[in-house]
Amino acid sequence: MGIADGKRALVVGLANDKSLAWPIVQNLIAQGAEVALTYQGEVLEKRVRPLAEQVGAWIVGELDVCDDAGIASVFERIKERWGGLDMLVHAVAFAEREDLRDRFLTVNRANFARALEVSAYSLVAMARAAEPLMESRGGGSILTLTYIGAVRAVPNYNVMGVAKAALEACVRYLALDLGEKNIRVNALSAGPARTLSSSAIRGFHDMAHEVERRAPLKRGMKVEEVGTMALALLSDLAGGVTGQTVYVDVGYSIAGI
Ligand code: NAP
Repeated sequence: MGIADGKRALVVGLANDKSLAWPIVQNLIAQGAEVALTYQGEVLEKRVRPLAEQVGAWIVGELDVCDDAGIASVFERIKERWGGLDMLVHAVAFAEREDLRDRFLTVNRANFARALEVSAYSLVAMARAAEPLMESRGGGSILTLTYIGAVRAVPNYNVMGVAKAALEACVRYLALDLGEKNIRVNALSAGPARTLSSSAIRGFHDMAHEVERRAPLKRGMKVEEVGTMALALLSDLAGGVTGQTVYVDVGYSIAGI
């Protein structure tokens, strides 16, 4: 018996096998869940399709999370095939590369708005679409991925930190709205991991080494640790947890210096 037996999960934000979404998908499937995936653009489809085949996931189709019609169509297809949905994983973020270096205050209005739209508002839009499908299953669980740059000023993280702060606030307000329908909403704050997205942040490797040096566990976070905690938060194991940001960061966030 797996702890996700009979559960149906949509995971948005798998780009390749380095994505934090990948260990989440692997854990969900290993524990009995059926998983649906989306991809963004042809290049990513070429990377995502073999991963989906490897684990037996269903590719629902293409999704740009800024496209409301696209979101509606993905959830419609899920409704047709599954009738409902138990879990939603939001592992999506974007900021222009030029804004992930040097000074935060140079970010322009359009880039600021875009970073917040893709990285924070998209969770609200998808939670709204998921609500009726989760309600029809008697409840559900929504999980997003965040970073300590939401609550501390991390050099070069800049506008993405502001977007993550908004994302974490969205988690609390969504948890308040959806709690009466037995839908939980949480954020997992991961330590630094080498992925397509993080490679855009200037000085990322040096920062990751500094985290290893200062963190209580004296090592880097393993991506598998994101997968197992995500599974716990998504599953009934975390039945009493909602509106929280849970750190999977080898303890870095509690260190004084
Ligand atoms: P990743 O593999 O590059 O995943 C990011 C995903 O977001 C990609 O699939 C990307 O697709 C997608 N995306 C961006 N804009 C989108 C849009 N408009 N519509 C649909 N999808 C879009 O990087 P990752 O590091 O695993 O990131 C996953 C999540 O973890 C992000 O929220 C990130 O902030 C968070 N996180 C990462 C770290 C880390 O150190 N890596 C630490 C803490 C939290 P495209 O490639 O097509 O843009």
